[in-house]
Amino acid sequence: MVKNLPVVPTAKAGSLVETPTGITWRVQYPVISEKCNMCLDCTLFCPDGALIQQEGKIELILSLCKGCGICANECKENAIQMVPEYSGVQGVFR
Ligand code: SF4
Repeated sequence: MVKNLPVVPTAKAGSLVETPTGITWRVQYPVISEKCNMCLDCTLFCPDGALIQQEGKIELILSLCKGCGICANECKENAIQMVPEYSGVQGVFR
């Protein structure tokens, strides 16, 4: 299926540094596995510019990531898994 997407992400990587939504919003975060083929789709779909290509791999800017999971949903290789921020005993903090 061909998607009609803009060429650039909705937010340029690093442009939201002064409004780090990730700090208060995020309850899960993406972990990128070695299956990543560097197609860069995740960097285009991330609404917050939290994923950038750096030194031959995808880096996550955690302060910008709000944990929406769009990157994991759009990854064709299933190379991105969403992981809970806190995975300890439930009921203590939630
Ligand atoms: S979870 Fe959402 S905000 Fe975080 S990197 Fe993925 S698409 Fe961007």
